[in-house]
Amino acid sequence: MKEENLPSIKELEEYVRQGKLMGFKCKKCGHKEVTPFVYCPRCGSSEVEVVELPKTGKVVTYTIQWVAPERFLNEVPYAWCVVELDDGTMVSGWIPFISKPEDLPIGQKVRMVKSYKPGVYFEKVKE
Ligand SMILES: [Zn+2]
Repeated sequence: MKEENLPSIKELEEYVRQGKLMGFKCKKCGHKEVTPFVYCPRCGSSEVEVVELPKTGKVVTYTIQWVAPERFLNEVPYAWCVVELDDGTMVSGWIPFISKPEDLPIGQKVRMVKSYKPGVYFEKVKE
């Protein structure tokens, strides 16, 4: 993919507002990332396409944030987490109202939800 064909950060944020999580996929080796890349970090190919990523995954790790920027003040404390999506792609996002490790076990299933808040907003999925 040529650099000028990559969607802008603004366009990517707009997808998130619509409840879509977009990522970048190397056509050659299948490597996927949420961060735009022009050359595949794994195999160096420039054949990159934009794909929609799964909305569900599991929590790999997180930190609990008590001190938040103004736009997150109503959600404190929240977990800033790394989620491994069902296809293996790693995404960072956040889950509101997590104050202690018991609130969010590692491996917890989560689902992306539509949000006007910045970043990718996840909620816990009951199993
Ligand atoms: Zn590749």
